[in-house]
Amino acid sequence: MKLGISSCLLGNNVRYNGGHTRDRYVTEQLGKFISWIPVCPEVECGLSVPREAMRLVGTAKEYRLVTIKTGIDHTKRMQSWSKKRLEQLATEELCGFVFKSKSPSSGMRGVKLYSPKGGQPSHNGIGMFAKAFMDRFPELPVEDEGRLHDAKIRENFIERVFCFSRWKQYTGKKISIQSLIQFHTDHKLMIMAHNPKALKELGALVASTTRQTLNRNSTIYIITFLEAMKLVATVKKNTNVLQHIMGYFKKLITKDEKRELVEVIENYHSGYVPLVVPLVLLQHYVRKYNVEYLKQQHYLHPHPKELMLRNHV
Ligand code: SF4
Repeated sequence: MKLGISSCLLGNNVRYNGGHTRDRYVTEQLGKFISWIPVCPEVECGLSVPREAMRLVGTAKEYRLVTIKTGIDHTKRMQSWSKKRLEQLATEELCGFVFKSKSPSSGMRGVKLYSPKGGQPSHNGIGMFAKAFMDRFPELPVEDEGRLHDAKIRENFIERVFCFSRWKQYTGKKISIQSLIQFHTDHKLMIMAHNPKALKELGALVASTTRQTLNRNSTIYIITFLEAMKLVATVKKNTNVLQHIMGYFKKLITKDEKRELVEVIENYHSGYVPLVVPLVLLQHYVRKYNVEYLKQQHYLHPHPKELMLRNHV
């Protein structure tokens, strides 16, 4: 699976001061499962290392990329390079992008934005390349390395990245109604954990899809799906899904097994154990009682367990 990334996060010495901002989580943990496509907008658009530092100047609607001391305006250079680079990236089959936070070129939110009149900056800017990237690929999951240090944000982003990768696998080169239905069916519990309202909406969209509307509806589907997945799967929503899953075993499990399962779900709900604990038990029952529908549910195995994303309370 390929993800784009701001090059300096991989430890490449491309920053204005000749250094890097290697991120350990990105390189050591995520890196085991991801093939990174590094992008350094400032170096790739022709600037040197080291170089004069830059900042964004203007208003939230319109701003320019300008060097801090000498005031050289690199906006056009960055824009025309971005246009070409984005078309190259479109051929890479990316499943997301990890941006360097706060950078006037690569920051995806909250970048310092200076008024031409001077004074204190606002934090309304978006790095020039990051903005162009998000405009060109609105469906792709994106996050910055700073926010990835938050366990919930990290889990949410990586879940969306793996969902998007599966979407590509399910739909292949040419989508069919069958593959759309299958993707939706296998992600039902996952959607329920993030955004129960969207489950109905997406279900209705899939049910109304015909050969004539397939291309349009599948585009609407994946954009709506990934948007729905941005809502964090809270303890309350996860507990609902766990209880829902338990319903499939009602007539299969023994009294003792049921008691144990109820207790483990309650412990998760009360914050005594992380989500991984009830899930491991449920996975065990899915295997033991061979519940076909649940075997296919990606909610039970959304990403490699080595990432330990569901191990936080
Ligand atoms: S933040 Fe972006 S532009 Fe700056 S060094 Fe890193 S990759 Fe290059």
